[in-house]
Amino acid sequence: MRLVILGPPGAGKGTQADSIIKRYDIPHISTGDIFRENIKNETELGKECKGFMDKGLLVPDDLVVSIVQDRLSKSDCQNGFLLDGFPRTVGQAVSLDAELDKMGIKLDKVINIEADKEILVERAIGRRVCPSCGATYHIKFNRPQEEGQCDLDGSKLIQREDDVEETVATRIQVYLDQTLPLINYYGAQGLLLNIDGTQSIDAIFDQIVQELER
Ligand code: ADP
Ligand code: AMP
Ligand code: ZN
Repeated sequence: MRLVILGPPGAGKGTQADSIIKRYDIPHISTGDIFRENIKNETELGKECKGFMDKGLLVPDDLVVSIVQDRLSKSDCQNGFLLDGFPRTVGQAVSLDAELDKMGIKLDKVINIEADKEILVERAIGRRVCPSCGATYHIKFNRPQEEGQCDLDGSKLIQREDDVEETVATRIQVYLDQTLPLINYYGAQGLLLNIDGTQSIDAIFDQIVQELER
C-alpha cells in the first residue's frame, strides 16, 4: 500500500492515518509531525520552519521535498507508506512523482477527506495532542478518558500553537489556494478516493478500508 492522505487542516487525516497504518503495517510519514519534532529539538530545520508554521503558511517546497525523499529511501518504506500532509502543492506532487519514478514505484491511492470550513475550524480549535506520543484527541468529539490527559501514557495534553482561530483560518485559505489543485492532479491520474469527512471517525475508517480493498 503506497498511499497519500489529502484534505484540509482539521479534516481528520492524522486520526485516520493512525488506524490505516496499523491495519496495513506501513510507516506514517507526516511532514507536519517531522517539522514539529525538529522545532522541539531546536534543529536547523526546525528554526527554518517555525516562522512559516506559526503563521499558518506553508514551509517552502525545497525544504519539504528533500525531507520526504530522505524518508522514502529508508528500508521501512519498501512495502508501502502513508504520506500525511504531503504533497501540499502541485510542485511537491510533481517532485514526488519524479522521485517515485526513480524508485520504480507508483502510488496506489490518494485518500481525499472532505469537510466544510465550519467543521474544520471546530475540529482544529478543539484538537489536543499528546506531546510525548503524538496521540490526537478532541475536547468534544474524541475525549480522553481523563480530561486533559493522554490515555496511552498519562501525559498532559497540549494545544498546537497553530490551532487558534486566526491561524486555522489562514491554513484553510492556504489549503484552498495551494493544495486544492491536487484534487484535479490526482483525479486525472485516476488515483483519487473521495471520502465524506463529516461522518464519525469509525464510519470514515470503515469506508476507507472498504474502498481500498474493493
Ligand atoms: P488533520 O490531521 O486533518 O489536521 P486530525 O486528524 O488531527 O486532522 O483531526 C482534527 C481534530 O478533529 C482532532 O481533534 C480529531 O480528534 C478530530 N476529529 C478527527 N476526525 C473526526 C471526525 N470524523 N469527527 C469528529 N472529530 C474528528
Ligand atoms: P500539519 O501537521 O499537516 O497540519 O502541518 C502543520 C504545518 O506544517 C503546516 O501549516 C505547514 O506550515 C507545515 N507543513 C506540513 N507539511 C507541509 C508541506 N507538505 N508543505 C509545506 N508545509 C508543510
Ligand atoms: Zn501520549
